[in-house]
Amino acid sequence: SREWHLLSRPEGWPKPENFALVEAEVKQPDEGQVLVRNEYLSVDPYMRGRMSAAKSYVEPFELGKAMQGGAVGEVVASRAEGIAVGDHVLHFGGWREYAVVRAENAVKVDPQAAPLSAYLGVLGMPGLTAYAGLLRVASFKEGDAVFVSGAAGAVGSQVGQIARLKGASRVIGSAGSDEKVELLVDEYGFDAAFNYKNGPVWQQLKQAAPDGIDVYFDNVGGDHLEAAIGALNLRGRVAVCGMISQYNTTEPVPGPRNMVKILQNRLRVEGFIVGDHYDLQPQFVQEVGAWIRSGELKYRETVVEGVENTLEAFLGVLRGDNIGKMVVRL
Ligand code: NDP
Repeated sequence: SREWHLLSRPEGWPKPENFALVEAEVKQPDEGQVLVRNEYLSVDPYMRGRMSAAKSYVEPFELGKAMQGGAVGEVVASRAEGIAVGDHVLHFGGWREYAVVRAENAVKVDPQAAPLSAYLGVLGMPGLTAYAGLLRVASFKEGDAVFVSGAAGAVGSQVGQIARLKGASRVIGSAGSDEKVELLVDEYGFDAAFNYKNGPVWQQLKQAAPDGIDVYFDNVGGDHLEAAIGALNLRGRVAVCGMISQYNTTEPVPGPRNMVKILQNRLRVEGFIVGDHYDLQPQFVQEVGAWIRSGELKYRETVVEGVENTLEAFLGVLRGDNIGKMVVRL
């Protein structure tokens, strides 16, 4: 069985020499454990943070050990009550072909109810991030004008569509290619979208939202955040979900220059971590599951084949190669 190890901590953009794909023995489960043959691995932006030693909300990856991450697969051996051989589970033993996991860290999923990869994306952690961030953290309400960055990605594409389905007055998205921008408007039903590489964000946002915005869902940080602060109406709210524009920077990044707007317009800017919002999971799955079945909410995935391409898939997410959730199929 092959597994990915972190050999050294990247400075700036991760390089192939920071990692190794290593051959490891497949262990049999102990009492209370199951052995899973992974079918899909998740690669997520937050994993860049775990490659650094800096203290954060998740522990850094340990050097010379298998890296962890979301995965779904089939149970091939079980010594745990309630989980049988042939069951499919969502767990955290990713970046490898086989994983031994404790039963309490494995959640059974139904491959009949949804494609397995959906449990890593639209019905999984990124989906809940969109749902909780928009509805709870940003206190979205009907009639709000919503701007979301990273809008063609896993989280962003769902934020925009949930806002539309819940009665936003206007949904605006930004993304890094003209193809993505087209998708936002034509397939996901955004009212306006722009390619942030085509001109200053503040200028393009002003054009897309002439009456301003009430909510900004931030996946990007930097000039996107500054532009959004400038566009927010009275009592506007920002859900700070991610700042992917600075995950590979080596120098401190200057903050928005227009912070005084937070005061003048009584804005609320709040960071959040999806792990604090799992109480919303049942409600999220019910509501979003129904929208997917009815076709009102659409999603894409970018699928990379083979465990040997996991690192490349991860780097692809940081570069923007993906449309929707990036997964690796084994
Ligand atoms: P995505 O599917 O959105 O993939 C990341 C996207 O970011 C890329 O496709 C790329 O698209 C865009 N991007 C990369 N670099 C830049 C840049 N410099 N400026 C603007 N956009 C850039 O990933 P996720 O949906 O999984 O995650 C989206 C965000 O949400 C990330 O910031 C992530 O860290 C955060 N997150 C936070 C969670 C939390 O609990 N707070 C949980 C899950 C995710 P493009 O072509 O448009 O540039």
